[in-house]
Amino acid sequence: MIGERLAAVAETAEIGDILVEREDLARRVLELGERISADYAGRTLLLVGVLKGALFFLSDLMRALEVECEVDFMALASYGSATDSSGVVRILKDLDASIEGRDVLIVEDIVDSGLTLSYLMRTLQAREPASLEVCALLTKPERRKVDLPIRYVGFEIPNRFVIGYGLDHAERYRNLPYVAVLSGG
Ligand code: 5GP
Repeated sequence: MIGERLAAVAETAEIGDILVEREDLARRVLELGERISADYAGRTLLLVGVLKGALFFLSDLMRALEVECEVDFMALASYGSATDSSGVVRILKDLDASIEGRDVLIVEDIVDSGLTLSYLMRTLQAREPASLEVCALLTKPERRKVDLPIRYVGFEIPNRFVIGYGLDHAERYRNLPYVAVLSGG
């Protein structure tokens, strides 16, 4: 019992400063939804959510859209260390359907070096969609290794490891309603 309580205290000690508050996430998602709805007016959008981190961002963004839209998912594993992706990416779960001729919007949680997204864009572009754009909740411009056309960005953040609102640390903390720095991250 005491052990459990101590473990809980140690866990919360991993949650550092809040970088993006819950209200700011909600406001920005609505703004992005409005912009995307205007840009794709009259078209049917296919949202491609990148699992698992984009989970909450995607579901909130999709409800903020006023255009017709469908959703599909991909899951990717990036080889590399816990904090640095190598750019060598394996597809764990591919899309259910063809994207040929579709207006595709990739919905990502965070773009760090950009290597994962760069791989994903090349892979999807080869399937000949009518258009391919990216909406990322967070980006870390300081860490970028490849130049990518990210059309919609929620927030630019400094070079810190963040958790919450879908983002994990060893699969934990995705359920935090805000984005916080991982203590020591
Ligand atoms: P990139 O290939 O752009 O370097 O890495 C992108 C992926 O690394 C993201 O989709 C995410 O899974 C992970 N990642 C990068 N930075 C962070 C971070 O600050 N927090 C968490 N939880 N994941 C991150």
